[in-house]
Amino acid sequence: MHTTLIVTVLILCQIKEMPRHHRTKKGIADIVTQRIDRLFDLANEEFATDSARSDRYIHHARRLAMKYRFKLGKRYKTRFCRSCGAFFVYGANARVRIKDKRTVITCLRCYCLRRY
Ligand SMILES: [Zn+2]
Repeated sequence: MHTTLIVTVLILCQIKEMPRHHRTKKGIADIVTQRIDRLFDLANEEFATDSARSDRYIHHARRLAMKYRFKLGKRYKTRFCRSCGAFFVYGANARVRIKDKRTVITCLRCYCLRRY
């Protein structure tokens, strides 16, 4: 939890401290990308010891993306459950199958399906 708070506070400070002419859409997007990357990394690291904590990292990453209207790419979108917010580790809490040339990801916590 502490790490999450620090990460979130850090990004806000970083954006505030940016010189005004750097505070462009791209400049902010760069920082947001970095933070989201880091949060997903942390979620991955924490999954083995505390999966609830990695879910919280995902929650923060999604909030961050929402706040700065940042689109989560496919790389991120496929790593968590849209309905219960669980961080996916394929094989552990998510099932990945190919059906009719489409990837189907099933969340093994809430059994919600998602096709890509
Ligand atoms: Zn789910």
